[in-house]
Amino acid sequence: METGSGADMRVALQKAIRDGDIQPAFQPIVTLQGRQLVGFEVLSRWDSPEFGNVSPGVFIPLAEEAGFIDELSRKLIREACTTAARWQGNFCLALNISPIQFQYPDLYHLITEALSETGFCSTRLIVEMTENAAFSDKEEVSSVIEKLRSVGVSFALDDFGTGYSNFLRLQTFPIRWIKIDASFVRLITENENTRAIIASIIALGHDLNVDTVAEGIETEAQADLLEQLGCPMGQGWLLGEPLSAQEAEAYAKLHR
Ligand code: C2E
Ligand code: CA
Ligand code: CA
Repeated sequence: METGSGADMRVALQKAIRDGDIQPAFQPIVTLQGRQLVGFEVLSRWDSPEFGNVSPGVFIPLAEEAGFIDELSRKLIREACTTAARWQGNFCLALNISPIQFQYPDLYHLITEALSETGFCSTRLIVEMTENAAFSDKEEVSSVIEKLRSVGVSFALDDFGTGYSNFLRLQTFPIRWIKIDASFVRLITENENTRAIIASIIALGHDLNVDTVAEGIETEAQADLLEQLGCPMGQGWLLGEPLSAQEAEAYAKLHR
Protein backbone atom coordinates (compact mmCIF):
# COMPACT_ATOMS: atom_id res chain seq x y z
CA MET A 1 0.00 0.00 0.00
CA GLU A 2 1.33 3.40 -0.90
CA THR A 3 1.16 6.24 1.59
CA GLY A 4 -0.67 9.41 0.62
CA SER A 5 2.48 11.51 0.66
CA GLY A 6 4.34 8.98 -1.54
CA ALA A 7 1.63 9.29 -4.15
CA ASP A 8 1.64 13.09 -3.80
CA MET A 9 5.37 13.23 -4.27
CA ARG A 10 5.10 11.10 -7.38
CA VAL A 11 2.59 13.54 -8.88
CA ALA A 12 4.77 16.50 -7.91
CA LEU A 13 7.84 14.77 -9.38
CA GLN A 14 6.12 14.12 -12.68
CA LYS A 15 5.14 17.77 -12.91
CA ALA A 16 8.63 18.93 -11.90
CA ILE A 17 10.21 16.79 -14.63
CA ARG A 18 7.73 18.03 -17.21
CA ASP A 19 8.26 21.67 -16.22
CA GLY A 20 12.06 21.37 -16.15
CA ASP A 21 12.24 22.11 -12.42
CA ILE A 22 14.84 19.44 -11.77
CA GLN A 23 18.16 21.04 -12.47
CA PRO A 24 21.71 19.75 -12.83
CA ALA A 25 24.34 20.70 -10.25
CA PHE A 26 28.01 20.32 -11.18
CA GLN A 27 30.55 18.97 -8.70
CA PRO A 28 34.22 19.50 -9.63
CA ILE A 29 36.52 16.50 -10.05
CA VAL A 30 40.15 17.59 -9.73
CA THR A 31 43.68 16.23 -9.76
CA LEU A 32 44.90 15.73 -6.20
CA GLN A 33 48.30 17.06 -7.15
CA GLY A 34 47.88 20.64 -8.30
CA ARG A 35 44.07 20.58 -7.93
CA GLN A 36 43.41 21.05 -11.64
CA LEU A 37 39.90 20.69 -12.97
CA VAL A 38 39.32 17.42 -14.81
CA GLY A 39 35.54 17.39 -15.01
CA PHE A 40 32.22 17.87 -13.30
CA GLU A 41 29.86 15.19 -12.04
CA VAL A 42 26.27 16.09 -12.91
CA LEU A 43 23.99 15.65 -9.88
CA SER A 44 20.29 16.35 -10.07
CA ARG A 45 18.64 18.83 -7.73
CA TRP A 46 14.95 19.27 -6.99
CA ASP A 47 13.76 22.19 -4.91
CA SER A 48 10.06 21.42 -4.63
CA PRO A 49 7.57 24.09 -3.51
CA GLU A 50 5.71 21.41 -1.52
CA PHE A 51 8.48 19.12 -0.29
CA GLY A 52 11.49 21.44 -0.09
CA ASN A 53 14.90 20.18 -1.19
CA VAL A 54 14.33 16.54 -1.98
CA SER A 55 17.49 14.40 -2.08
CA PRO A 56 18.22 12.50 -5.32
CA GLY A 57 18.57 9.50 -3.04
CA VAL A 58 14.78 9.82 -2.66
CA PHE A 59 13.48 11.09 -6.00
CA ILE A 60 15.73 9.06 -8.32
CA PRO A 61 14.40 5.71 -6.99
CA LEU A 62 10.89 7.17 -7.18
CA ALA A 63 11.45 8.23 -10.80
CA GLU A 64 12.78 4.75 -11.58
CA GLU A 65 9.80 3.05 -10.02
CA ALA A 66 7.26 5.32 -11.64
CA GLY A 67 8.84 5.01 -15.09
CA PHE A 68 9.94 8.68 -15.27
CA ILE A 69 13.68 8.11 -15.17
CA ASP A 70 14.26 8.23 -18.94
CA GLU A 71 12.42 11.51 -19.32
CA LEU A 72 14.27 12.96 -16.33
CA SER A 73 17.64 11.81 -17.71
CA ARG A 74 16.88 13.12 -21.18
CA LYS A 75 16.11 16.59 -19.83
CA LEU A 76 19.07 16.63 -17.45
CA ILE A 77 21.56 15.51 -20.07
CA ARG A 78 20.29 18.08 -22.56
CA GLU A 79 20.37 20.83 -19.98
CA ALA A 80 23.81 19.88 -18.63
CA CYS A 81 25.40 19.49 -22.09
CA THR A 82 23.83 22.66 -23.53
CA THR A 83 25.05 24.76 -20.62
CA ALA A 84 28.48 23.17 -20.26
CA ALA A 85 29.18 23.36 -24.02
CA ARG A 86 29.32 27.16 -23.62
CA TRP A 87 31.89 27.17 -20.80
CA GLN A 88 35.61 27.58 -21.28
CA GLY A 89 37.95 24.66 -20.85
CA ASN A 90 38.26 21.07 -21.87
CA PHE A 91 36.74 19.40 -18.80
CA CYS A 92 34.49 16.38 -19.11
CA LEU A 93 30.99 15.80 -17.79
CA ALA A 94 30.18 12.65 -15.82
CA LEU A 95 26.55 11.58 -15.84
CA ASN A 96 24.85 9.16 -13.49
CA ILE A 97 22.78 6.58 -15.30
CA SER A 98 20.57 4.20 -13.33
CA PRO A 99 21.13 0.46 -13.76
CA ILE A 100 17.60 -0.06 -15.06
CA GLN A 101 18.20 2.39 -17.91
CA PHE A 102 20.82 0.10 -19.39
CA GLN A 103 18.18 -2.51 -20.03
CA TYR A 104 16.43 -0.35 -22.58
CA PRO A 105 18.01 0.01 -26.02
CA ASP A 106 16.71 3.59 -26.05
CA LEU A 107 19.55 4.74 -23.77
CA TYR A 108 21.89 4.89 -26.75
CA HIS A 109 19.57 7.24 -28.62
CA LEU A 110 18.79 9.25 -25.53
CA ILE A 111 22.49 10.04 -25.07
CA THR A 112 23.55 10.42 -28.69
CA GLU A 113 20.58 12.66 -29.52
CA ALA A 114 21.41 14.90 -26.57
CA LEU A 115 25.02 15.09 -27.77
CA SER A 116 24.14 15.94 -31.34
CA GLU A 117 21.50 18.48 -30.33
CA THR A 118 23.77 20.28 -27.90
CA GLY A 119 27.08 20.00 -29.75
CA PHE A 120 28.82 18.59 -26.67
CA CYS A 121 31.65 16.30 -27.81
CA SER A 122 31.07 12.60 -27.07
CA THR A 123 34.67 12.09 -25.93
CA ARG A 124 34.04 14.58 -23.12
CA LEU A 125 31.14 12.52 -21.80
CA ILE A 126 31.57 9.89 -19.12
CA VAL A 127 28.72 7.64 -18.06
CA GLU A 128 28.86 6.65 -14.39
CA MET A 129 27.48 3.22 -13.60
CA THR A 130 27.84 0.86 -10.67
CA GLU A 131 29.83 -2.38 -10.92
CA ASN A 132 26.66 -4.45 -10.79
CA ALA A 133 25.18 -2.57 -13.73
CA ALA A 134 28.43 -2.61 -15.69
CA PHE A 135 29.03 -6.33 -15.31
CA SER A 136 25.49 -7.45 -15.86
CA ASP A 137 25.12 -10.56 -17.98
CA LYS A 138 22.24 -9.08 -19.94
CA GLU A 139 22.85 -8.86 -23.66
CA GLU A 140 21.07 -5.47 -23.89
CA VAL A 141 23.47 -3.97 -21.37
CA SER A 142 26.67 -4.99 -23.14
CA SER A 143 25.18 -3.97 -26.45
CA VAL A 144 24.32 -0.42 -25.32
CA ILE A 145 27.75 -0.04 -23.66
CA GLU A 146 29.48 -1.16 -26.84
CA LYS A 147 27.43 1.19 -29.01
CA LEU A 148 28.15 4.15 -26.76
CA ARG A 149 31.83 3.27 -26.65
CA SER A 150 31.96 3.14 -30.45
CA VAL A 151 30.85 6.78 -30.65
CA GLY A 152 33.48 7.92 -28.12
CA VAL A 153 31.57 7.92 -24.82
CA SER A 154 33.51 6.44 -21.89
CA PHE A 155 32.54 4.95 -18.54
CA ALA A 156 33.25 5.30 -14.85
CA LEU A 157 32.68 2.53 -12.34
CA ASP A 158 30.81 4.36 -9.58
CA ASP A 159 30.88 3.50 -5.84
CA PHE A 160 33.67 1.03 -6.61
CA GLY A 161 34.25 -1.56 -3.91
CA THR A 162 30.64 -1.69 -2.72
CA GLY A 163 29.29 -3.98 -5.43
CA TYR A 164 30.24 -7.09 -7.26
CA SER A 165 33.30 -6.78 -9.48
CA ASN A 166 33.85 -9.25 -12.22
CA PHE A 167 37.59 -9.20 -12.83
CA LEU A 168 37.25 -11.08 -16.10
CA ARG A 169 34.99 -8.38 -17.45
CA LEU A 170 37.26 -5.64 -16.08
CA GLN A 171 39.84 -6.74 -18.65
CA THR A 172 37.73 -5.65 -21.56
CA PHE A 173 35.36 -3.09 -20.11
CA PRO A 174 35.87 0.40 -21.59
CA ILE A 175 36.55 2.21 -18.30
CA ARG A 176 37.98 5.66 -18.00
CA TRP A 177 37.66 6.07 -14.24
CA ILE A 178 37.26 3.89 -11.20
CA LYS A 179 35.51 5.91 -8.48
CA ILE A 180 36.53 4.81 -4.99
CA ASP A 181 33.41 4.89 -2.85
CA ALA A 182 33.16 7.57 -0.16
CA SER A 183 32.64 4.93 2.53
CA PHE A 184 36.32 3.93 2.15
CA VAL A 185 37.55 7.52 2.03
CA ARG A 186 35.68 8.31 5.25
CA LEU A 187 37.75 5.70 7.13
CA ILE A 188 41.08 6.23 5.43
CA THR A 189 42.75 8.15 8.25
CA GLU A 190 41.71 5.77 11.01
CA ASN A 191 41.60 2.27 9.59
CA GLU A 192 44.66 0.45 8.30
CA ASN A 193 42.60 -2.20 6.48
CA THR A 194 40.67 0.52 4.66
CA ARG A 195 43.98 2.05 3.57
CA ALA A 196 45.10 -1.35 2.24
CA ILE A 197 41.87 -1.70 0.26
CA ILE A 198 42.19 1.78 -1.20
CA ALA A 199 45.84 1.13 -2.10
CA SER A 200 44.87 -2.03 -3.95
CA ILE A 201 42.10 -0.28 -5.91
CA ILE A 202 44.59 2.41 -6.92
CA ALA A 203 47.12 -0.27 -7.94
CA LEU A 204 44.42 -2.02 -9.97
CA GLY A 205 43.72 1.29 -11.71
CA HIS A 206 47.41 1.78 -12.49
CA ASP A 207 47.72 -1.72 -13.92
CA LEU A 208 44.60 -1.33 -16.04
CA ASN A 209 45.69 2.13 -17.13
CA VAL A 210 42.58 3.67 -15.63
CA ASP A 211 42.46 6.76 -13.41
CA THR A 212 41.05 6.37 -9.92
CA VAL A 213 38.86 9.13 -8.48
CA ALA A 214 38.37 9.17 -4.71
CA GLU A 215 34.87 10.31 -3.75
CA GLY A 216 33.65 12.17 -0.68
CA ILE A 217 36.94 13.85 0.30
CA GLU A 218 36.15 16.21 3.15
CA THR A 219 39.52 16.88 4.82
CA GLU A 220 43.08 17.77 3.84
CA ALA A 221 44.26 14.72 5.81
CA GLN A 222 42.18 12.44 3.57
CA ALA A 223 43.39 14.22 0.41
CA ASP A 224 47.05 13.99 1.55
CA LEU A 225 46.83 10.28 2.31
CA LEU A 226 45.10 9.54 -1.00
CA GLU A 227 47.77 11.50 -2.83
CA GLN A 228 50.51 9.58 -0.99
CA LEU A 229 48.85 6.33 -2.01
CA GLY A 230 49.06 7.47 -5.64
CA CYS A 231 45.42 8.32 -6.29
CA PRO A 232 45.44 10.80 -9.18
CA MET A 233 42.03 12.40 -8.79
CA GLY A 234 39.45 13.35 -6.19
CA GLN A 235 36.03 14.80 -5.55
CA GLY A 236 34.35 16.00 -2.37
CA TRP A 237 33.38 19.00 -0.31
CA LEU A 238 37.02 19.87 0.39
CA LEU A 239 37.70 20.21 -3.33
CA GLY A 240 34.37 21.72 -4.38
CA GLU A 241 30.71 21.30 -3.53
CA PRO A 242 28.07 20.69 -6.20
CA LEU A 243 27.70 24.06 -7.98
CA SER A 244 24.90 25.77 -9.87
CA ALA A 245 25.45 26.19 -13.62
CA GLN A 246 26.47 29.81 -13.12
CA GLU A 247 28.96 28.97 -10.38
CA ALA A 248 30.38 26.05 -12.36
CA GLU A 249 30.92 28.29 -15.38
CA ALA A 250 32.94 30.71 -13.22
CA TYR A 251 34.81 27.78 -11.67
CA ALA A 252 35.70 26.37 -15.11
CA LYS A 253 36.96 29.77 -16.24
CA LEU A 254 39.15 30.15 -13.17
CA HIS A 255 40.52 26.59 -13.33
CA ARG A 256 41.14 26.34 -17.05
P1 C2E B 1 26.81 9.38 -6.25
O1 C2E B 1 26.77 9.17 -7.72
O2 C2E B 1 27.73 8.53 -5.47
O3 C2E B 1 27.15 10.92 -6.06
C1 C2E B 1 27.96 11.44 -5.03
C2 C2E B 1 27.12 11.93 -3.88
O4 C2E B 1 27.97 12.35 -2.81
C3 C2E B 1 26.27 13.16 -4.21
O5 C2E B 1 25.11 13.07 -3.41
C4 C2E B 1 27.16 14.31 -3.73
O6 C2E B 1 26.43 15.50 -3.47
C5 C2E B 1 27.70 13.70 -2.45
N1 C2E B 1 28.96 14.29 -2.03
C6 C2E B 1 29.88 14.93 -2.78
N2 C2E B 1 30.95 15.26 -2.04
C7 C2E B 1 30.72 14.84 -0.79
C8 C2E B 1 31.45 14.89 0.44
O7 C2E B 1 32.57 15.40 0.53
N3 C2E B 1 30.86 14.30 1.53
C9 C2E B 1 29.65 13.71 1.47
N4 C2E B 1 29.15 13.18 2.58
N5 C2E B 1 28.91 13.64 0.32
C10 C2E B 1 29.46 14.20 -0.78
P2 C2E B 1 23.68 13.44 -4.01
O8 C2E B 1 23.78 14.60 -4.94
O9 C2E B 1 22.75 13.54 -2.84
O10 C2E B 1 23.31 12.17 -4.88
C11 C2E B 1 23.08 10.92 -4.28
C12 C2E B 1 23.05 9.83 -5.32
O11 C2E B 1 21.90 9.98 -6.16
C13 C2E B 1 24.24 9.85 -6.26
O12 C2E B 1 25.33 9.22 -5.62
C14 C2E B 1 23.69 9.09 -7.45
O13 C2E B 1 23.76 7.71 -7.23
C15 C2E B 1 22.23 9.51 -7.44
N6 C2E B 1 22.00 10.56 -8.44
C16 C2E B 1 22.16 11.91 -8.33
N7 C2E B 1 21.79 12.52 -9.48
C17 C2E B 1 21.40 11.54 -10.34
C18 C2E B 1 20.91 11.53 -11.70
O14 C2E B 1 20.77 12.55 -12.37
N8 C2E B 1 20.60 10.30 -12.23
C19 C2E B 1 20.76 9.15 -11.53
N9 C2E B 1 20.45 8.00 -12.12
N10 C2E B 1 21.23 9.12 -10.26
C20 C2E B 1 21.54 10.31 -9.67
CA1 CA C 1 28.14 9.08 -9.34
CA1 CA D 1 29.62 7.51 -6.17
